[in-house]
Amino acid sequence: MKKTVIIGAGGVGNVVAHKCAQDADTFGEIWLASRTLEKADAIAADIKQATGIEVKTAQVDADNVAETAAFLKKEQFDLLLNIALPYQDLTLMDACLEAGVHYLDTANYEPPENPHFEYKWQWDYQERFKEAGLTAILGSGFDPGVTNVFCAYALKHFFSEIKTVDIIDANAGDHGLPFATNFNPEINIREITAPGLYWEKGEWIKTKPLEISTEFAFPHEEIGTRKIYLLHHEELESLALNLPGLERIRFWMTFSDNYIKHLSVLENIGMTSIEPIEYEGQQIQPLKFLQKVLPDPASLGPLTKGKTCIGCLITGVSKQSGELESKFIYNICDHQECFAEVKSQAISYTAGVPAMIGARQLISGAWLRPGVWNLEQLDPDSFMDDLNAWGLPWHILEVDQELRP
Ligand code: NDP
Repeated sequence: MKKTVIIGAGGVGNVVAHKCAQDADTFGEIWLASRTLEKADAIAADIKQATGIEVKTAQVDADNVAETAAFLKKEQFDLLLNIALPYQDLTLMDACLEAGVHYLDTANYEPPENPHFEYKWQWDYQERFKEAGLTAILGSGFDPGVTNVFCAYALKHFFSEIKTVDIIDANAGDHGLPFATNFNPEINIREITAPGLYWEKGEWIKTKPLEISTEFAFPHEEIGTRKIYLLHHEELESLALNLPGLERIRFWMTFSDNYIKHLSVLENIGMTSIEPIEYEGQQIQPLKFLQKVLPDPASLGPLTKGKTCIGCLITGVSKQSGELESKFIYNICDHQECFAEVKSQAISYTAGVPAMIGARQLISGAWLRPGVWNLEQLDPDSFMDDLNAWGLPWHILEVDQELRP
C-alpha cells in the first residue's frame, strides 16, 4: 500500500486532505503533518466524519530539514505534498531528497526576507532529483497548475503554435466582511503589492503595482463583466520558456473597488511593509502583525457566496484551419458547493483539488519522471480528465474578445 504525507493544515491543506481521503485507494495511508498539531487533528476528525477514512496526524517543523527527513524516513512515505507556505519549498525538497520521497507543491519558493518569487531556486534541484530517481512537480494548484495544463492541452489538441496567453482569475464571491484575503494574507498581500510584470517578445516588462487594468466579459451571468488588473504571477516564467513560438503572456485578476481601497490605505500607512519596526522593545514586521488581525481565510468558508472563474484566453495558429483562432478554457466554481463538500471556500478548493490531481498522476505513474517539472512539461490528458472527475469541470469557448488595456 502507498503512503502519502500532506504538509500544512491550512485552508488549502484541508481541501487536499479531504480529496486524498476521497481517493484512499490511490493514496493509501494518508498523513497530515503541520506546525500546529491541533489544526491537523481537527481536519482529520472532519474527514473521518465525512468519509470514514482515518487520516494520521503529526507535528512537524518543515523549516527543519533534519527533523522532517527523519520523520519521512521513519514512516517511509512514497510521496510528499507540500501545502505549507512557499518559504518551506527548499527545505522540503531537501528533506525529500534525503529520505527518497517524491515531491509536489502549489507555489514557487520565495525567500521570507524578500517578496520576490522565481523558479531558479527550485529548478536548480533538477540534477539532484534526476540522480536520485525522484520526481518533483512544481506549482500544482489552479494558477499555477491547471492554467499550465490548459496551455499544454491547447498546444497538444488545438494549436500548432500558441501566440498569446492571458490568464484571467476572477473571484466574484462575497464574504460580507469589510476586508479579508482569500488565501494566506501574508503571501496574498506580498503578491498584490508587488510590481506588475508581463512577458512580450522575449522581454519582461515591469509596471507599477495594479497600474494596468481592463474589462473582461466572463462566460457566466453571475460574474458578468468585471475590471481585471495585470499582476505578475509565477506561471508566466515557466510558460514563457516552455511554450514554443509564444509572443506574449500576461496574468490578470479581479479586485473590487472596496478591496483596492482597503489595500491602498493599509499600504499608505505602512501596514503591508515587511521591514521590521521596533514595538515595545520587540522587532515586528507590520505585514505579519496585519495577518494576525485579518480574518483567517479558513474562516471565510461558511460566509462566502458566489462563483469563481479562472481560465486561459489563448490565441494561436489552429491545427485545423491554419488561421489564428482564440479559445477561452476555464472552470467555474461555486463557493457554497465547495463548502458543502469539504468545508472550504472556492479559493482553497480550486488550489487544493489540482494538488490532489497532480499527486494522482505522480503516484499512478503517469507523471513519474525523475527530475523537476512544471505542469506544462507533462502530458495533460489524464489530468484534464481528472479535473472533470474530481470537482473542477472545464469548458472551452471560441472567442473573439481581445484584451486591450
Ligand atoms: P495557510 O496559511 O492557511 O496554511 C499554511 C499551513 O502551513 C498552516 O497550517 C501552517 O501552520 C503550515 N506551516 C507553515 N509553516 C510551517 C512549517 N515551518 N512547518 C510545518 N507547517 C507549516 O495557507 P493556505 O492554505 O492558504 O496556502 C497554502 C499554500 O497554497 C501556500 O503556499 C499558497 O501560496 C498556496 N496556494 C496556491 C494556489 C494556487 O492556485 N497555486 C492558490 C492559493 C494558495 P500553522 O497552522 O501553525 O500556521
